[in-house]
Amino acid sequence: MTVVREALLKLSRSGAMKSTITRAPLTRDVVNRYVAGETTDDVLRITRTLADANLSITIDRLGEDTTKVEQAAETTRAYLELLRLLDDAGLADIAEVSIKLSAVGQFLGRDGERIATEHARSICEAAGAVGTTVTIDMEDHTTTDSTLSVVRALRADFPWLGTVLQAYLHRSEADCRDLAYQGSRIRLCKGAYAEPESVAYAEPAEIDKAYVRCLRILMAGDGYPMVATHDPRLVEIALTLADRQHRSKDSFELQMLYGIRPAEQARLAALGRRMRVYVPYGTDWYGYLVRRLAEKPANLRFFARSLVSR
Ligand code: FAD
Repeated sequence: MTVVREALLKLSRSGAMKSTITRAPLTRDVVNRYVAGETTDDVLRITRTLADANLSITIDRLGEDTTKVEQAAETTRAYLELLRLLDDAGLADIAEVSIKLSAVGQFLGRDGERIATEHARSICEAAGAVGTTVTIDMEDHTTTDSTLSVVRALRADFPWLGTVLQAYLHRSEADCRDLAYQGSRIRLCKGAYAEPESVAYAEPAEIDKAYVRCLRILMAGDGYPMVATHDPRLVEIALTLADRQHRSKDSFELQMLYGIRPAEQARLAALGRRMRVYVPYGTDWYGYLVRRLAEKPANLRFFARSLVSR
């Protein structure tokens, strides 16, 4: 990992930087590139546009690392309201939701996991009632065991509940093997957090190789792989592996983030590929934005200018 990227990822969790960056004048342009807006009206409008372009959607209400019980409850209520609005708008068959357990209470002390499980359960109930699904995002490696254990518990009642595995973690090949069973929806991504070398690959080439090893396991398994990457080489490899396993077009999907390679999203959808766009919205965009900036060195110059011009 480059020094700059590592420093940025550390900043993604700094409260002081959060307030500086949130108020920086040029930040708004960068935010608009990656975030669908601050309100549910904004995200519903973007969801409709993407659905009209033959894309599927997963919506993330931004927020993470919640340390207040009331905030976790408020995030949960916002998801319930969003699901109701998706249903009213006739979009629940094409749009699901993604949630971060840390946004719904995972870090609330000793009871955190229980609180997050209950909140995620009520979101799953609401999603099931309107005929859509939920995917639980994966955060830094200290949360992986807890997140997988919450997912395991909830899958007893919601077998369609999806989750994420991060190829950069050494453990993920084994997790892919455990989770490549019938009906299991697994989103495979490279991983977006600053992780120590004791648990994660740091070199891009090593991460890519690990991604391919995980892909092989998921594509050969009985689950439903969700290939979340903008990396053209990995998308090609995923399509080749799917062909080799005689997978039908609806037995796996490709996923990309809102604002990143939109032309490629449209191209793949036009070829009949299932392409789902991860669409974040809300006011708490700081951590998400800084992770996106860290992924693309060219973004850093723009970002630095926005800070200097304060
Ligand atoms: P990269 O090698 O980073 O990028 C490949 C190419 O994509 C780049 O050359 C560039 O052209 C383009 N690109 C990538 N990022 C950007 C950017 N920010 N701005 C502009 N262009 C860019 N990570 C987690 O840790 N947990 C999650 O739960 C999680 N969920 C995700 C869900 C989805 C649908 C996706 C697509 C990603 C998710 N991620 C998650 C992020 C992921 O781990 C990577 O950090 C991110 O996708 C960048 O990796 P990449 O595979 O696109 O490859």
